[in-house]
Amino acid sequence: MSNVTVCVRFRPLSSKEKKDLGDNICIQSMDSETVIIKDEKEEGFAFSFDKVFYEESKQADVYEFLVLPIVRDTVNSINGTIITYGQTGAGKTYSMEGPNILESDEKKKGILPRVVDGLFACIKTSADSTKYTVKLSMVEIYMEKVRDLFDLSKDNIQIKESKTQGIVLSGATEISLSDTAEALQSLSTEMNMASSRSHCVYMFTLNQESISEKRVKSGKLILVDLAGSEKVEKTGAEGRVLEEAKTINKSLSALGNVINALTCGSPAKANHIPYRDSKLTRMLQDALGGNSRTALLCCCSPSPSNASESLSTLRFGASEE
Ligand code: ADP
Ligand code: MG
Repeated sequence: MSNVTVCVRFRPLSSKEKKDLGDNICIQSMDSETVIIKDEKEEGFAFSFDKVFYEESKQADVYEFLVLPIVRDTVNSINGTIITYGQTGAGKTYSMEGPNILESDEKKKGILPRVVDGLFACIKTSADSTKYTVKLSMVEIYMEKVRDLFDLSKDNIQIKESKTQGIVLSGATEISLSDTAEALQSLSTEMNMASSRSHCVYMFTLNQESISEKRVKSGKLILVDLAGSEKVEKTGAEGRVLEEAKTINKSLSALGNVINALTCGSPAKANHIPYRDSKLTRMLQDALGGNSRTALLCCCSPSPSNASESLSTLRFGASEE
């Protein structure tokens, strides 16, 4: 069995999409695993995933299917990565955080607050003989530079590999889990402004110290809200916008290559997984592949006006029928 789970989620039509094209959608549900999408020429393409979440799907559905098994494995010291991919406006941040990061409506909470609660619950019910500590770092990758979102003055964080801890964000602020509510609060204004042109990475590190055996085990869980995957108009873009677009494309294709190598590659090829091609894949190196578990949520609009971007998002994640 593959350690990579790939799902797609279609958000509901936006009010703008409804105003422009009424209730028209470009997708048709075959079943809970296969969706057909029509391009601008009305040609249909079928794609299969581990699961398709349609417009009416709930935050809890996504969490339970895609995320909870990985949270459980983190507690067993297996690293994991959960990634949201798709064009800007497709629902990546909604899925990852919720309508906003401090959402109080339980039903609307996204993956991040649910992971915080999930890890907290594991710690509370743990045996007395084990001491758990969980730390959270948050960084963004913009133009191949890593910036600490808890301390914006740290704008060139280095990714290093340590013998004991694996890949680390050298010098990045670490918040202990019991303080996350407060930490996220302090962060919420910046988060709302977070650019769709940067990758946002939440790195949880869970250490388990067995008091009797004097052993420390650790597991890492990384959540990634990717930069928008949309193609920039070749004619319109210039200067900084064009540079941003090129850098994003490069890192997203590096990610695609790594995921492909993990899902299709023979074990012999495992040595050739191109992690070093981008900051993003380098950062995910020990939480993507090997013994670790990966979940990719491809986010799409169901509107015909976004059909070509949705099609390319489905191609990124799926095996075409
Ligand atoms: P992205 O992060 O991919 O750019 P957002 O998550 O910001 O996109 O979503 C764009 C808009 O659509 C936001 O207003 C968001 O609240 C809304 N939205 C996205 N997904 C859903 C959903 N599943 N249910 C309801 N509203 C959603
Ligand atoms: Mg977003």
